[in-house]
Amino acid sequence: MAATSNAPGAARYLPVERDLDALRDAAETCHGCSLFEDATQTVFGNGHPGAPIMLVGEQPGDQEDRAGEPFVGPAGRLLARALEDAGIDPAMVYETNAVKHFKFTRKGGKRRIHQKPGRTEVVACRPWLIAEIEVVQPQVIVLLGATAAQSLLGAAFRVSTQRGHQLRLPSTVDVHLTPEPTLVATVHPSSVLRDRSDRHDEVYKTFVDDLRSAGAALGRRG
Ligand code: SF4
Repeated sequence: MAATSNAPGAARYLPVERDLDALRDAAETCHGCSLFEDATQTVFGNGHPGAPIMLVGEQPGDQEDRAGEPFVGPAGRLLARALEDAGIDPAMVYETNAVKHFKFTRKGGKRRIHQKPGRTEVVACRPWLIAEIEVVQPQVIVLLGATAAQSLLGAAFRVSTQRGHQLRLPSTVDVHLTPEPTLVATVHPSSVLRDRSDRHDEVYKTFVDDLRSAGAALGRRG
């Protein structure tokens, strides 16, 4: 049963029961924005309640859309390597996205090209992310890229100036957790993957350093 029938975006699809299975089931039939129309399926988060670290990406990609799991494509594989290099055990991590359906355009009739979700879609989908945060109760939330960061920290947030910093949820985000989670923003692993410049090693290392900063924040809360 949905919580409210006339709320905007995804809010009207939220179930009264708030556990991950109920949320995942309810999200399968979300029509909170138009992205469900062309995508294969809803790609909900993956992990267990109580995972101390939540990773939030932008949206599922082509492979995630087909598999129904987040971070199973090339960017996910780079992320897994970076987590290992940062000393973060994957068992401690819950992975999800700010937007739960794949947004794309078709090229040549077949190939699906990723399109960045718009602000309307990010805001429409945010109730799922907030519900996941309330159920999982992470101690540290890592925001991977501008879309994820701006979903929780507002449209004016710039990853380029505040990456790796330890931040708090703004009071405008209606999440009730005690203690409050620490937020760390960094780039999306797909941008590291795309970087073919001679700075690639440095770009990767900086990404790992940001993840290490998130792991260190967890240690301090310990
Ligand atoms: S992107 Fe989010 S709000 Fe839009 S239909 Fe999918 S689950 Fe619902």
